[in-house]
Amino acid sequence: MHYKNTIPKRLKSYKEEDRGHTTPCWIWQGYIDQSNGGYGKCSSGTGPYPVSSHVWMYEYFKGPVPDGLELDHLCRVRSCCNPDHLEPVTHKENIRRGFLRRGVVSSRGERKRVYDHDGLLPFSRIVLSYRESGMSFEEMSAKTGKTQGSLRTAYYRAKMKLSITKT
Ligand SMILES: [Zn+2]
Repeated sequence: MHYKNTIPKRLKSYKEEDRGHTTPCWIWQGYIDQSNGGYGKCSSGTGPYPVSSHVWMYEYFKGPVPDGLELDHLCRVRSCCNPDHLEPVTHKENIRRGFLRRGVVSSRGERKRVYDHDGLLPFSRIVLSYRESGMSFEEMSAKTGKTQGSLRTAYYRAKMKLSITKT
């Protein structure tokens, strides 16, 4: 479903605000769906009601979102509908980016634990490399002073994260 040809009812229902991205965000002033991620919603004019305001704006200014892709907010502001802050990506890529971003900065903007480029904690990476070199959890435990349980947890978590973040 594309909204490009529908008539905007409230095209100017946004406020420009500097939220730290390269250019100001367009903060949606209409309805915000707080229960579903905090995205702006608007009437498409003719289509089903409501549609996501950022999707609608993107399609109005840039053209249809390619089939199978979804829009990623490059500015991390979900109520922003600036088409220049939106990039069509695959669902997998969107999840991957969100995951990597969450690793560095929480939703409240606080710094959290720092992950490396694969989204792994340094400790997990060490466990992974030990395991790959054939070391048993028992040997690792003796070497690191950590319990085998915590080493196993770190190992399986790292394996899982790599399977998610692999492109
Ligand atoms: Zn923005």
